[in-house]
Amino acid sequence: MTFTLAIIGRPNVGKSTLFNRLTGKPHALVHDAPGVTRDRREGAGRIADLAFSVMDTAGIDAAEKGSLQSRMTAQTMRASQDADVILMMVDGRTGITPVDEEFAKLLRKSKKPLLLVVNKAEGKAARATILDAHRLGLGDPIAISAEHGEGMGDLYDALQPFAGDAPVEEIPPEEGGPLTIAIVGRPNVGKSTLLNAILGEERVLTGPEAGITRDSITVAYSHEGKDMRLVDTAGMRKKANVNEKLEKMSVADTLRAVQYAQVVVVVMDAEQPLEKQDNAIAALVESEGRAMVIAINKWDTVKEKDAFIKAFRQRFEKVLPQIKGVPVVPISGEKNYNIGKLFNACFEAYSIWNTRIGTGELNRWLEAMLEAHTPQLVSGRRLKIRYITQKSARPPSFVLFSNLKEVPENYLRYLVNGLRERFALQGVPIRIAVKKNKNPYADGDS
Ligand code: GDP
Ligand code: GDP
Repeated sequence: MTFTLAIIGRPNVGKSTLFNRLTGKPHALVHDAPGVTRDRREGAGRIADLAFSVMDTAGIDAAEKGSLQSRMTAQTMRASQDADVILMMVDGRTGITPVDEEFAKLLRKSKKPLLLVVNKAEGKAARATILDAHRLGLGDPIAISAEHGEGMGDLYDALQPFAGDAPVEEIPPEEGGPLTIAIVGRPNVGKSTLLNAILGEERVLTGPEAGITRDSITVAYSHEGKDMRLVDTAGMRKKANVNEKLEKMSVADTLRAVQYAQVVVVVMDAEQPLEKQDNAIAALVESEGRAMVIAINKWDTVKEKDAFIKAFRQRFEKVLPQIKGVPVVPISGEKNYNIGKLFNACFEAYSIWNTRIGTGELNRWLEAMLEAHTPQLVSGRRLKIRYITQKSARPPSFVLFSNLKEVPENYLRYLVNGLRERFALQGVPIRIAVKKNKNPYADGDS
C-alpha cells in the first residue's frame, strides 16, 4: 500500500524542484513529456525505503486561466480529491505572504492530513520564516531545501506514518546483464580519485566506437573479462564527461545511485572511518537491500594495518548488526592499490546476493533450528513455526509460516543469523516476512 502526496503552494516556492527530487530517476530525469499537460504531472516518489506517488500541481498555474484565487482553489480542490496527504510549501526566503495565508485558509477546511514545508531553508536563510510559519495553523513546519536535498530525513519521518507497513523494494534494472556497481560515500573519502584511477586506464570501454553504449548513467567497464557498469553519479545530474571530477554527492544522489545498482561500494576514509554519515550510508544500502562492499580508502596512511581491520570489523558489526560479514577491502585510489581485489569482492557479493535455496534444504535447516531452540511463548500462546520458503533473491528474502502473526524479534534474529551461517549469506541483507497460516498448502495463499 502506498499513498499519494500532493504538493501545493504559490508559484516559485519550489514545488517542481521537490517533485523532481522525489521522483528523480537516473534514466528519466523528469522532463515534461510533450503532449502531456503539465497540471497532470504525477510520478513515483521515494525517500529511502518509503515509496509513494507524488502529484505536482504547479502546472495549474500555467494551465488554468483566471485569477490567482481561482487557480489556488483549483489546486487545492484537486489535491484534496486525489491525494492522501497534502504538502503545502512556502518559500523560506521570501517569508509568509498573504497568498500563503489564503492557501492555508483553504487547506484548513480540507479533511486531508497536511504537512507544512518551508523550502529554500539551506543555510540559515529561512530561520525567521520557520518561526513565523506556525501562525498558518498547519502544525510544525518542516524545513527543507528541495534544491540541495536537505531535510529529506525530516520529510521522511513526517510521511512515514502514511505508508502501509510493507516497504516497496525496488527491483534492480535487469537480471543477467553486466553487474551494476555504484560507488558512494561521504565527501572527501576519495570517490572521484578512485573512479579516475579505474577509468583512467585503458580498460575503459566507452562510446560507440567500442560498440558499447554509454548512457549518462553508467560507464561500461571490464575487469578480468567480466563486464560491469559503474554508476556515474555525476552523469546522473548532468551529462558530464566522465573525466570530469565527480561533483559532491548529495544524499538524494546517493540514494538514486544505490537504487540503480546491484552492488554498492561504500567508500570510507581510513583516517576517519565509521563517522555518522558513513554509517548512515551503509544503513541506507542495507535498507535498500543491495549487496555491499566496504572500501577503506587511503590505506597508504594506515600504519597498524592488521589492528585497523580487526577494530574496524568489530565496530562495524555494532553499527549494522543486522548484516554480518560485509566484505571490507583496503584500497588506495591514489596509489591504485587493491582495485582488482575490490572488483572481485563485488562479484562475490553479487553472487551471494543472488543465492537461491531449495525449499527442502531450507526446511531441514529450520527443523534443526527449532529443535536447538524452541521459541518462547508469545503473550501466553505457543508459537509454532511450520515452514519456510525463499520468496525471492536479490536480496535473499524468505517467508516464514507460523500459527501466530508475529514472531519475536530475537527469534527472527536467531533465524537470520542461522540462515547466514548455514547458507553462507555473508554481507548481504536478509529479509524474513512472517505469514500466519495453518498449512501453507491449504489455501495457496503464499
Ligand atoms: P514552483 O513554481 O513552485 O514549481 O517552483 P520551482 O520548483 O520552479 O522553483 C522556483 C525557483 O526556486 C527555482 O529557481 C528554483 O531553482 C528555486 N528553488 C527551489 N528549491 C530551492 C531551494 O531549496 N533553495 C533555493 N535557494 N532555491 C530553490
Ligand atoms: P570525494 O569527495 O569522495 O570524491 O573525494 P576525492 O576523490 O576528491 O578525495 C578527497 C581527498 O582525499 C583528496 O585530497 C585526495 O587526494 C585524497 N585521497 C583520495 N584517495 C586517496 C588515497 O588513496 N590516499 C590518500 N592518502 N589520499 C587520498
